[in-house]
Amino acid sequence: AQGNAQGNAQGNALPGVRHIVAVASGKGGVGKSTTACNLALALSAQGLRVGLLDADIYGPSVPKLLGLSGKPRVIEGKTLEPLQAYGLKAMSIGLLIEPESAMIWRGPMVQSAITQMLRDVAWGALDVLVVDMPPGTGDAQLTMAQATPLSGAVIVSTPQDLALIDARRGVTMFRKVSVPILGVIENMATFICPNCGHASAIFGHGGARHEAERLEVPFLGEIPLTMAIRETSDAGRPVVATDPDGPQAKVYSEIARKLW
Ligand code: ADP
Repeated sequence: AQGNAQGNAQGNALPGVRHIVAVASGKGGVGKSTTACNLALALSAQGLRVGLLDADIYGPSVPKLLGLSGKPRVIEGKTLEPLQAYGLKAMSIGLLIEPESAMIWRGPMVQSAITQMLRDVAWGALDVLVVDMPPGTGDAQLTMAQATPLSGAVIVSTPQDLALIDARRGVTMFRKVSVPILGVIENMATFICPNCGHASAIFGHGGARHEAERLEVPFLGEIPLTMAIRETSDAGRPVVATDPDGPQAKVYSEIARKLW
């Protein structure tokens, strides 16, 4: 049962891919990529066939998060083979070009790179393709949300007011193009001290839940700010894959269950 992950797909569907789910944020640095990656792994742990597409053209972080390197193989014509890590199929612009060269790309080039990563990659049969969207809610994001046949979108925010205002813009943007909002996630909700386990609400707490209620979209859960998440992300050994029975894997898997 695919629960919430269905909706008004736009553009042309991808053959073999049942659902495409965007993970988006109004602003950068809120942990969108970390969340996308660990959610993809949590969905995979539930037995689903999952892909992760890094559409964050200007700041691709999927290769680092999954510890990937090397160029994808061309299998025929211009079709690329996705790389594999921890049971996920993955593709990122960071695997195809020097990330610095994309920094100067204009909108149409970004759009065509994303279209290629969607359509010219041998994704095969997938239950869900998780798309790590570029941060922000400008024209580029809107065009992309429109051009990608999305089943739905998940918005990641920290509890801070500024991030929440941007998250609200994100909800508005997806509504504009009739992409269902699957829900809002509060990342960095509380800081868990690695020494004593004490939880402090560094950025405040509960803001995203409140905002979700106000916007009448589901609230999917809170992810704490922990040393383990930060260290494993930076080391290319995501916590859901490397400590599947640990407390953080549990948090991501509860959110993943609400999505599916
Ligand atoms: P974004 O994609 O929104 O720019 P990232 O996923 O790259 O953000 O995260 C930014 C930084 O915050 C990274 O160093 C990442 O490891 C860290 N981070 C993200 N979420 C958490 C978390 N819940 N706990 C600890 N560190 C986190």
